[in-house]
Amino acid sequence: MSDTQTLVQVRNLKKHFPIRSGLLKRQVGAVKAVDGVSFDIIQGETLGLVGESGCGKSTTGRTILQLETPTAGDVNFNAESLNALKGRSLRQKRREMQMIYQDPYASLNPRMTIGQIIAEPMVIHGMKTETGYRKATATERNERVYELLELVGLNPAFINRFPHEFSGGQRQRIGIARALALQPSFIVCDEPIAALDVSIQAQVVNLLEKLQKEFGLTYLFIAHDLSMVRHISDRIAVMYLGKVVELTDRDSLYKNAMHPYTKALLSAVPIPDPEVEETRERVILEGDVPSPANPPRGCNFCTRCPVAEEICFQTEPTFQEVEAGHWVACHLYE
Ligand code: SF4
Repeated sequence: MSDTQTLVQVRNLKKHFPIRSGLLKRQVGAVKAVDGVSFDIIQGETLGLVGESGCGKSTTGRTILQLETPTAGDVNFNAESLNALKGRSLRQKRREMQMIYQDPYASLNPRMTIGQIIAEPMVIHGMKTETGYRKATATERNERVYELLELVGLNPAFINRFPHEFSGGQRQRIGIARALALQPSFIVCDEPIAALDVSIQAQVVNLLEKLQKEFGLTYLFIAHDLSMVRHISDRIAVMYLGKVVELTDRDSLYKNAMHPYTKALLSAVPIPDPEVEETRERVILEGDVPSPANPPRGCNFCTRCPVAEEICFQTEPTFQEVEAGHWVACHLYE
């Protein structure tokens, strides 16, 4: 899986949240939100990360950025281990890795003007120059905010307005401008279009693609269904119950999905051809996603898998490369 152009390398990453009970708050279990995830993100690509709500995809993004402390595993960014970084050195590294949040309404401070919101990372970290970061004057920050507003398609004259004066799509553009303020090389986009109207979603995706081309950005693009990541992703990883179950390039995934869970997700994506849509076979998954505090023995998908066999209930499948660049965790992949 390694590559000379790998920007982010995630190995066996785990994030378990302890469950505590009783007067002494003893740990009685753990919610295994992320449970042994491994993948690489190549410089300049968009890796889509897809799965149902609660499968651990957002926690994966946050743990990669060290916004959550990993329970186990490694994250390397630009060949440097993030686990070893603490305090100031971690904060400095974070300048290169930013996040765009799902809910533009909740992620912007309603008491700050959009100029203050976008300038805030520069107040904390300074401005990027060719030789590193340095403290910026108020004028320099203002100039940069004007530049960023133009870049994301907002009128710089709005600099003194408050978030509530903007539409959902405009607020997401403000979030994108804030994420770009420090000129990062890697951005985790955590369901950035899920809360937007369908008509606005394409505009935001197009903006993200334009910015990627212009600045050579690398994205981890998190979404809860495969139709949302199809357009923007170069490769796609599918997550189920804290684990990546399939990972391959976009075309292989849509033409040749091998994991039963991916096949079920694909069968739920609408096809814009009424004849094909009417005749195609749908895979309806029975039951609910098991609790990540008590995942099933063997394969974590065995309780809902339509083709599960005895071995699936006994032995956990390994995540293996079954074709060049196509990784699957299933005993019976086809
Ligand atoms: Fe289904 Fe078994 Fe494959 Fe798991 S290992 S996805 S239960 S067939």
